[in-house]
Amino acid sequence: MLMEKARQEIVDYGKKMSAARLTSGTSGNLSVYDAKTGYMAISPSGVGYFDTKPEDIVIMKLDGTIVEGTMKPSSEHALHATIYKTHPDARAIVHAHATYCTTFACLNQPIRACHYLIAGAECATIPCADYATYGTEELAEKVEAVKSDGLAMLLANHGMVAFGPNMAKAFNVAENVEWMAEIQWRAMCVGTPSILSDKEIANVIEHFKTYGQVKEGETGKGGY
Ligand code: 13P
Ligand code: ZN
Repeated sequence: MLMEKARQEIVDYGKKMSAARLTSGTSGNLSVYDAKTGYMAISPSGVGYFDTKPEDIVIMKLDGTIVEGTMKPSSEHALHATIYKTHPDARAIVHAHATYCTTFACLNQPIRACHYLIAGAECATIPCADYATYGTEELAEKVEAVKSDGLAMLLANHGMVAFGPNMAKAFNVAENVEWMAEIQWRAMCVGTPSILSDKEIANVIEHFKTYGQVKEGETGKGGY
């Protein structure tokens, strides 16, 4: 089978995503991209995360051609492909209908820098892509139209997407952005959140490069 390691990662992180209650039922999907072959491994459509096996993962090209797999790929394969095409460093994507992110997505409002941890997503604002029907090329176009340097975005009236140079980072961004959304929601329940400046977030992004047990010349995981 092609992309065995990626298949296993998608299975493992799908279970993690479900267990962490980042998404419910079969909503959400995950993928891994291999830039050398141009192949994307993606979760199958509508299969429970605890039922998904490595052989159920579908291998596709970014143009939508299926290379290997017997199952129907995630309905969001065009959205995933668009992110890999427009973010050359992206190698893994997590899409989830996480509760607090989806709350702001339903308000069509971004997540802002009311806490410095937004720097883990390498940006000062998590933007919200315009609405389009799930699983369509139109939704992929709305995602492509988002102007952001960050590793996450909301999808209006739908959910969130997080990505990174590997699955561990993409998942970490998804968890942190969901936490950020909860904090913003809580702060808005009792007042008006104070927003950190873009300059301060740029400063924290620099600090995160050496956060934790990082050796000389190495780059840290960029957050907690
Ligand atoms: P799939 O099960 O087809 O991946 O779709 C779930 C989803 O979240 C659609 O946006
Ligand atoms: Zn979705």
